[in-house]
Amino acid sequence: MDLVSGQPYWLLKNGFLHAYQPLRKNYAADVVIIGGGITGAIVAHSLTESGIKCCIIDKGHIAMGSTSASTSLIQYEIDRHLSELIRLNGEQNAATAYKLCADAVEELLYLANIIGDTSAKKKQSLYFTSSKKDIKSLQREFEIRKKHKFDVKWLDKKNLEQKFNLFSEAAILSDNAAIVDAYSFTHNLLNYNIKRGLDVFSLTESTKITYKKNGVIIKTKEGFNIATGKVIYATGYESQNVIRKKIVNLNSTYAFASLPITDIPNYFKTTIFWETARPYLYFRSTSDNRLMIGGMDDKFKNPQLRNLRLNKKVIQIKNKFTLLYPSISIYPDFTWAGTFGETKDGLPYIGEYKGVLHSYFACGFGGNGITFSVIAAQIIKDLIVHKHSPYAKLFSFTR
Ligand SMILES: Cc1cc2nc3c(=O)[nH]c(=O)nc-3n(C[C@H](O)[C@H](O)[C@H](O)COP(=O)(O)OP(=O)(O)OC[C@H]3O[C@@H](n4cnc5c(N)ncnc54)[C@H](O)[C@@H]3O)c2cc1C
Repeated sequence: MDLVSGQPYWLLKNGFLHAYQPLRKNYAADVVIIGGGITGAIVAHSLTESGIKCCIIDKGHIAMGSTSASTSLIQYEIDRHLSELIRLNGEQNAATAYKLCADAVEELLYLANIIGDTSAKKKQSLYFTSSKKDIKSLQREFEIRKKHKFDVKWLDKKNLEQKFNLFSEAAILSDNAAIVDAYSFTHNLLNYNIKRGLDVFSLTESTKITYKKNGVIIKTKEGFNIATGKVIYATGYESQNVIRKKIVNLNSTYAFASLPITDIPNYFKTTIFWETARPYLYFRSTSDNRLMIGGMDDKFKNPQLRNLRLNKKVIQIKNKFTLLYPSISIYPDFTWAGTFGETKDGLPYIGEYKGVLHSYFACGFGGNGITFSVIAAQIIKDLIVHKHSPYAKLFSFTR
């Protein structure tokens, strides 16, 4: 699947960080993770920490799928409001899912600290109304989040103008958010775990998987066999190929990194921003004082069409941002587009899937894909090590 087009900022900023050899012999491991993006890396870390011998294979170069395109805002607030999720999945389940997301933000920062990744930084998140008609539902959302003890503040029009120079009616300010460079973080995390026994093979595609009573044989495109007890699918949006049920709508999304902004206001350095409209505009700063701005999603995944629309979309994103911040001159420098998945309730699919033996799925679809990768790693580790996770049901294929 053609997941990314254009010039993702992280690839150009970091360059080719590390080469991993392809697999060129038959091989065996307790667990094989298919997919070397940020999800595969975090799952591998969790298993390696638990003393499980595992390996990652990726058909391409490591972290060059969606991970390289990610704008990497790390949030507990998912695309669906907590109030909507309560309606869909029940109050207890919805609140627990949101709390797990909040924990995942902290966990990612903790992980970055352990491995010495300096791209991950704690931020606050500002969720602002796109129009007057959204005030009521945002107010409802604020009340329900407060009820469930999320650290949120309500900001009115005046506060927003004073603190953020932002023209919006109201907003929820949350303390619990972060940013990261998913591309370099993935490499840093893999290298940390390679020293602890993890094997990573790039340019190694699984082409045929045979599920046996006692394990699984993965045949690679190059003709080698991998024998393993368990398989973890961390194949991003390509996971849908293995699952019979349609679980995700694949869309296209667009982003750019601006030229560095001289005298960038401090609020861009402390806060990540997103809005109540759907599809939503979102933005964050980078360490070299650019703004990374994304949105304007299209409801199709056709890569050719996506590429054709990239320039027009970048202009639309820029114009939308300028309406909010007329005093900031913004010049798109690097522009790109990617495939993006949406599930019905905004939550990921994690865990076992009926009929696919000895296998676990880590499908972190949605605007919070990276937050979901952290949750997937925890649940899958618990399922493998303890044969049970108290949270598996929340994200299961049968929820
Ligand atoms: C423009 C854009 C902006 C985004 N912004 C955010 C954001 O702000 N915050 C956020 O949380 N998320 C965001 N996301 C989503 C986030 O990037 C993804 O959720 C995340 O990168 C998914 O990581 P992954 O490892 O699951 O998938 P990927 O990075 O796509 O990795 C999957 C890997 O599996 C490999 N693979 C597939 N099939 C096989 C096979 N048969 N054999 C071997 N290997 C295989 C692929 O080569 C690929 O490298 C954004 C996405 C895009 C496109």
